[in-house]
Amino acid sequence: MAVYLDHAATTPMRPAAVDAMLPWLTTHFGNPSGSHSVSRHARQAVDEARDVVAACLGCEPGEVVFTAGGTEADNLAVTGVVAATGGRPVCSAIEHHAVLHPVEVAGGSLVGVDGDGRVDLDQLAGTLGPDVAVVSVMLANNEVGAIQPLAAVEAIVDERAPQAVLHTDAVQAFPWVDLAELGRVADLISVSAHKFGGPQGVGALAVRPGVRLAPLIHGGGQERERRSGTHNVAGIVGMAAAAQATVGGRAATAERVGKLRDELADTLLASMPDVVETGDRRHKIPGNCHVCFDRVESEALLVLLDDVGVYASAGSACASGAMEPSHVLVAMGVPTERALGSLRLSLGATTTEDDVELALKVIPDAVARLRAG
Ligand code: PLP
Repeated sequence: MAVYLDHAATTPMRPAAVDAMLPWLTTHFGNPSGSHSVSRHARQAVDEARDVVAACLGCEPGEVVFTAGGTEADNLAVTGVVAATGGRPVCSAIEHHAVLHPVEVAGGSLVGVDGDGRVDLDQLAGTLGPDVAVVSVMLANNEVGAIQPLAAVEAIVDERAPQAVLHTDAVQAFPWVDLAELGRVADLISVSAHKFGGPQGVGALAVRPGVRLAPLIHGGGQERERRSGTHNVAGIVGMAAAAQATVGGRAATAERVGKLRDELADTLLASMPDVVETGDRRHKIPGNCHVCFDRVESEALLVLLDDVGVYASAGSACASGAMEPSHVLVAMGVPTERALGSLRLSLGATTTEDDVELALKVIPDAVARLRAG
């Protein structure tokens, strides 16, 4: 049995992405920055991919900066704006570490969230001022799936810190949420290919015109001087193909997977005592099922599930293995004991009804075994 319920960590490659990449890993090659035909062919592939990614993000092709993944896009957004402006960054307390750490390094401030993992708008308003250069609030959280009220955040930033730009990490949201409208709300948007069926190690930051951004990586001046380094042509082409396939099937996938998630969560809640769902399902991405089991240690549960072929996570992949409650659950006010019994089951485009049924057969037994000691 193999039931993969860790799509928030990474997703299987979409066949369309593999097909698009294969020529660039075999017969095709070329440095897109050169001037001869071989180079021009590679540049054309990158340009076409840029058009596709821009359309999927609701921005212009010239606003897309290709990066080596979501982490780099987030770092570029925060550190790049701080370096260019000398201002202070502000972010929500439940950001991915790819935002949280650059904000901390730059001496920025964190804004709390409520019990459902939604940013505290009053606290945000109180934190903003004329010295703030960038506000970073993710569109959907990677652990609990909470979708943030970005339009309200933007209105507060406009009022309290009109000089600041708004960055949103849309890495987890992209598979589920139509970002075409988002370009009007956020000035900077991060995405990562491997969260939607593309390859690992490639992502993008959409940068609205007029945003002052210093590069993190200096060199040959690629990506309009914003991100030097020879392009990862195969990765970029694969990302575009995966993005197109994702957007094409997004509404239907979100509806189908949302129902599977509801079945998974509802059955888990009904089948045993002392299990609590995290967050408000009305404000969550459809692929996220997050629960906490009292009197269970997440790590032990993950090992038992792994033994029977159910692959899940206790939180973000980077935090797994550490016996500390995740910063997200702490910020949401989940008591430590409860947070240590958390389980994230993340569904994706390839998740089936069978996956959910098999998971539901083994999870309650595993929990009961651990509780029995
Ligand atoms: N932001 C969020 C919300 C994520 O979930 C992740 C990956 O887990 C990242 C950023 C980092 O992206 P990448 O793995 O492409 O560096």
